[in-house]
Amino acid sequence: MTPNTPASDRNPVLLSAMHWKEVKDREFDLVVLPWGATEPHNLHLPFGTDIIESEVIAERSARYAADRGTRIAVLPTIPYGVNTGQMDLRLTISVNPSTQLSILRDIVESLSGQGIRRLVILNSHGGNDFRPAIRELKPRFPRMFLGLINWYQMLDQRRYFTARDDHAGEMETSILLAVAPSLVLPLNEAGEGTERPFRLKALRERWLWTPRAWSRATEDTGVGNPKNARAENGERFLADLTAAIGDAFVELAAADPEELYE
Ligand SMILES: [Zn+2]
Repeated sequence: MTPNTPASDRNPVLLSAMHWKEVKDREFDLVVLPWGATEPHNLHLPFGTDIIESEVIAERSARYAADRGTRIAVLPTIPYGVNTGQMDLRLTISVNPSTQLSILRDIVESLSGQGIRRLVILNSHGGNDFRPAIRELKPRFPRMFLGLINWYQMLDQRRYFTARDDHAGEMETSILLAVAPSLVLPLNEAGEGTERPFRLKALRERWLWTPRAWSRATEDTGVGNPKNARAENGERFLADLTAAIGDAFVELAAADPEELYE
């Protein structure tokens, strides 16, 4: 919930700021579900980093689409993600992939009975792998568009940042400096986010995959150096990102979910 959403906003996009008065007679072309995680982010970013990012990106993208006539609602953000590789890190909260599927199924079931035909998950967290869940749900809800955006995979980071960010590095730190600067500790208190390489060659080359044991894989829980993070770069990244997602929302809202091919 963005605390500065004005109460007088008669065209809100966040469901948590809407009232039944506005919703009961209103049609929605598209519903967005932001999904985060609750986990440490190096020494300097808050546990809620992924929650904040998914909500801000969903809200800005939805606002962009709403300004262009799209009837859209952003659901409250799900704060817990799959963190099975970080469960030994204090106050990390992990939900299993099967639990995540159950939550998603219940949300899709709620919406499908209300005539909603398009749902997009806006995901912030690499451990949240929604594709198998969507593949499993799709045959049960064949008339509904079920889509996924992993926003962190969309843009070429090199156009905005000096160091590649995997977790709590320059990209995430720049975004938080742009949208929630009071929650970012001074960067000289951050770790360098150095990842310890695997001993096995195939794992280093990443064609043999196994989940990372996070407390062994990095010193400070970060992967990617945050030291050059700047609010203005985060803002520039967010502007391009949310315009691209917003354009996709506009196009999707106008499309027939059963006629997606040329
Ligand atoms: Zn993150």
